[in-house]
Amino acid sequence: MYILNNFEYFAPETRSEALELAKKLGSKAKILAGGTDLIIQLKEKMITTENIINISGVDEFKGISCEPGKGAVIGACTKIADIEYSEALRKKYPALSFAAGEIGGPQVRSMATLGGNSCHSSPAAETPSPLSALGAIVVISSKSGDREVPIEEFILGNRKNVLAEGEIVTKFVLPEPAPKSANRYAYIGLRNAMEIDAVNMAVNLVLENDGETIKAIKLVMGSVFPRPLISEKIPALLIGKKLNDELVEQAAEVAQSEAKPITDVRASAEYRRDVVATLTRRLLKEAYAAAKEA
Ligand SMILES: Cc1cc2nc3c(=O)[nH]c(=O)nc-3n(C[C@H](O)[C@H](O)[C@H](O)COP(=O)(O)OP(=O)(O)OC[C@H]3O[C@@H](n4cnc5c(N)ncnc54)[C@H](O)[C@@H]3O)c2cc1C
Repeated sequence: MYILNNFEYFAPETRSEALELAKKLGSKAKILAGGTDLIIQLKEKMITTENIINISGVDEFKGISCEPGKGAVIGACTKIADIEYSEALRKKYPALSFAAGEIGGPQVRSMATLGGNSCHSSPAAETPSPLSALGAIVVISSKSGDREVPIEEFILGNRKNVLAEGEIVTKFVLPEPAPKSANRYAYIGLRNAMEIDAVNMAVNLVLENDGETIKAIKLVMGSVFPRPLISEKIPALLIGKKLNDELVEQAAEVAQSEAKPITDVRASAEYRRDVVATLTRRLLKEAYAAAKEA
C-alpha cells in the first residue's frame, strides 16, 4: 500500500531548468518541494504522476530577505523552520513566524516549505491566514514570465489553487508593516502536538497617530471555509473606534456570523464557531495592546 508507483525524477539546479521542465512536462509532472504532503498523497495513491520535478535544490527559490523598511521576500522553497527561526521575520511578522513554528513537529518543519503549505491548499493550513492578514503576494513563474496574485486569490478551495500547467510558485512578497501596527496569529487544535488546526486566525491591526483609534484591520480565519476567510464585518465595526470590551464582544459575534465551518473528524461546526469567538477576542486584545506599544 505504501509503495510509490514508478516515475521519472528530475532535480533541476537552476530556475531556468525548473521552468523549462515544468513547461515541457506540464500536467504529466508534479512539483516536489519538501514532500511532506506530496509523498504521502503518492504513497496513499490519492494521486499518481509520471514525473516528479524536485525544485528544492534551486537556490533562486530559497531564502529570506527582510531589511528594515523594505517588507520581506521569502523564496517559495524556504523551509518552514528557517521562517520560524528568522529573527528579522519574528520582529516584523510575528503572526507568520508563530504560525510557522506551530506546523507539525521539528522533523516536518525542517523539510516542509512555505510554498508547499500554500500550494497544497488545505483549508486547515497554518500559513495562508497570516500571509493573507499581512497582505502577501504570491509570485508565480513560468517560461512566459512572472505573475503576481494576492494569497487570498491564489487559494480557490480545498486542494485547489490558481496554478496553471507549467507554473511554479517562486516567492512570496510581504509589504512593510504600517507604523503603529501589530500582527498576531492564534489557533486551536485537538491536542498540543502534531495536530491539524480546528480553527486558526490571524489579525493585522493599524492604529491612527493618536495611538488608540483603529485605522485599519484585517482579520483572516482558517479552517472555517474552503479557503482563508477574510472578515468584511470586522473592519466595518472597528475602524474609527477605540477598542473596548463591548466592541470586542460585538467583534466576536460578527466573526462567528461570517464563519462557515463544517463538522469533520477534527471538530464539530458548533465547536469551531465557539472557537472563532474565543480567538477573535484573544487576538483583538493582543494586537490592540501590541499596536499601542509599537
Ligand atoms: C506529520 C505531519 C504534520 C503536519 N502538520 C501540519 C500542520 O500542523 N499545519 C500545516 O499547515 N501543515 C501540516 N502538515 C502538512 C505539510 O507539512 C505542510 O503543508 C507543508 O508546508 C507542505 O510543504 P512541502 O514543501 O512539504 O510541500 P510538498 O509536499 O512538496 O508539496 C505540496 C503540494 O504543493 C505543490 N508544490 C509545492 N511547492 C510548490 C511550488 N513552489 N510551486 C508549485 N507547486 C508546489 C506540490 O506539487 C504538492 O501538490 C503536516 C504534515 C505532516 C506529514
